[in-house]
Amino acid sequence: MNGTWQEPIDPMRLAFDIDGVVADTMAVFVQLARERYGLSQLSKDDLRCYELHHCLDMDREVLNDLICLTLDDEHTLQVPAMEGAPQVLTRLAEQGPLRFVTARIWPESITQWLHLTLHQVPAHRIQVIATGAPEAKRQVLNDLGIRFFLEDRLETCRHLVRGGIQPFLFDQPWNRSSDVEEFPRIVSWDQFGEWVFQGNGGE
Ligand SMILES: [Mg+2]
Repeated sequence: MNGTWQEPIDPMRLAFDIDGVVADTMAVFVQLARERYGLSQLSKDDLRCYELHHCLDMDREVLNDLICLTLDDEHTLQVPAMEGAPQVLTRLAEQGPLRFVTARIWPESITQWLHLTLHQVPAHRIQVIATGAPEAKRQVLNDLGIRFFLEDRLETCRHLVRGGIQPFLFDQPWNRSSDVEEFPRIVSWDQFGEWVFQGNGGE
């Protein structure tokens, strides 16, 4: 798959995963691992698989503690945005509501984070659905009439494409494992902005 996308991307039929796509959630995981457990050598590039116990040589209790801390309300609000995401999303919000579908169980803290991060977007233009499970995203997206979805988990992309949804894989260290590119890869929000705004009121 090369670095271009030809088909127009209708913003009204577009939705987004949050963690690992809009929110640089694992930056907080790495920070906590360094601060709380002295794992000073750990970097995001070490997170080479989605199921972290498969790729990190880390005590299971420590790993579970770090994941819980990363996703708790306090640390959710400290997550940095992925570079360029607020700019592209703020511009997209001028055309319609922004739809976010997350596998988190509770939507409250990450919704609050979105409101803070996208502070120029009116709150009523931000819709968040927490499915509690990645496999539940497909039905939710189809019910919303979504055709395009930005996602960082490879397995979820495979599940979505079987349901007629076109995934865009947001590049992260944990989704670079396959030799063959199955999905269009988004390496930056700037790149995605070019794809979505071409022929859509963009430059
Ligand atoms: Mg994600």
